[in-house]
Amino acid sequence: MAFNPSFIGKSFVVSDSDARIRDPNNLAAVTPKVILKGTKVLVTEVKTLPTGSKSRMVFANTTSESGSDVGWTSTRNLQGSFINETLDLLPAGTSVDQKGPNAAWSHGDFLGQVDLVEIVDNGLEIERMTLTTVEPYLMMVEAAKAAGISVAINSGFRSYGEQDLLFRGFKQGLPGFNLAAPPGMSNHQNGIALDIAVSGGAGTPVYNWLAKNATSFGFVRTVSGEPWHWEFDPKKAATAKAQGTCKAAGISN
Ligand SMILES: [Zn+2]
Repeated sequence: MAFNPSFIGKSFVVSDSDARIRDPNNLAAVTPKVILKGTKVLVTEVKTLPTGSKSRMVFANTTSESGSDVGWTSTRNLQGSFINETLDLLPAGTSVDQKGPNAAWSHGDFLGQVDLVEIVDNGLEIERMTLTTVEPYLMMVEAAKAAGISVAINSGFRSYGEQDLLFRGFKQGLPGFNLAAPPGMSNHQNGIALDIAVSGGAGTPVYNWLAKNATSFGFVRTVSGEPWHWEFDPKKAATAKAQGTCKAAGISN
């Protein structure tokens, strides 16, 4: 399955009035040069810099629409802040490590190695989802956008190692750690589960749009009491749709 990052060939408007050009040899450093607000640019390349334990800041190398070099700038300076843009493909490769970075799990069972795609989330952090989930997800985002609804995720795939860390922190009662399932047991280790920013849940415009339309794109609610948790499961979604609901069998409220 071929993969092209979503930003390729797309035009972005510079939306910040102080959109600094970065030093190409040191993206952490701003230069005195700015890209004028309102300028339309194309993004040719993306790089990230770590800004903490989890988050990375995304930078774009830009050109004018006619192709002349403009320079590197933070994607936060671009209209939409790069939310829902896909970055790198993280291929499953040939690893047999069931606890490796591409290993998918569900309910304690190892599912296999999956191709993952990086995508910018609602909080400008980088999440992952399976390659097969990305295309229907972005189609859903576009359809929502046409209806005036912004769909973005807060959370996607978690690797075995990441879940292990969260679980240990929770068990030890470390500050900043919440209730977490043991590694292999989290419903975010399958790569098809997405927490969508529904800001409050049932009844909000985003939720209502999803409740009506998500099953048409193969997404279905799979956890009772979690209106933000959706999974790309075309079979379950089709069944739910035929029954006039957005929830898989047995899922309440
Ligand atoms: Zn979830």
